[in-house]
Amino acid sequence: MTLELQTLKAKALAIHERLCAAYGCPIPYFHSLDPLSELISSLLSHRTRNADSGRAFKALRARYPDWDMLMAASAQEVEETIQGVTWPEQKAPRLQGVLRAIHERHGSLSLEFLKDMPVEEARAWLECIPGVGPKTSAAVLSFSTLRKAALPVDSHHHRVAVRTGLIARSVAVGPSHALLFALLPPEWDAQAVYDNHEVMMLHGQRCCFFSNPACERCAILDLCPTGQARVG
Ligand code: SF4
Repeated sequence: MTLELQTLKAKALAIHERLCAAYGCPIPYFHSLDPLSELISSLLSHRTRNADSGRAFKALRARYPDWDMLMAASAQEVEETIQGVTWPEQKAPRLQGVLRAIHERHGSLSLEFLKDMPVEEARAWLECIPGVGPKTSAAVLSFSTLRKAALPVDSHHHRVAVRTGLIARSVAVGPSHALLFALLPPEWDAQAVYDNHEVMMLHGQRCCFFSNPACERCAILDLCPTGQARVG
């Protein structure tokens, strides 16, 4: 391992411990959905407020008590059902396309079989489905009842990682998943990896704002070159 990687890993761990102390780890899981339902929820949530995507998910569940019915429905009906999320006209056919792809590859509409796969293999299986990227695959494995050690990176988490220097500014959200996961201790269980995502996200939402981050009251100011440059 290079000295630079060793230093980054130590820094990632120090940031995690400091933010865990600030936000209270372990963080309770906010979902107990089966993995296929988590995938549908995650696809609905893209660029949509949680309350709106939650409402759309409930409306889908009420109209299609099993996901085979959603796959067989007309795209227009699905689009009407998920009104309230952003781009319902794109998300409706995408949802149905994802369900068809799973059915074709696996023979039924279930993702429970991913439980027996190593995380990297399960992520690769999911990311072969058109419309499923690294954030969605990690969300399905981490947030669902599979409870696997996968690290989703959202825009808040990504912003904190860039500003603290864990990743370069030029690294986009997609490729940041593998880089940030590689900085975490390999022996960490699913809860610890989930906590890491949650505290980085919470910090982005509550302190490291997109505009005007509150560096003067930040718990990791001494670990953050961006904050130190701003505070002076
Ligand atoms: S010091 Fe400022 S820029 Fe750095 S993580 Fe804290 S709030 Fe964000």
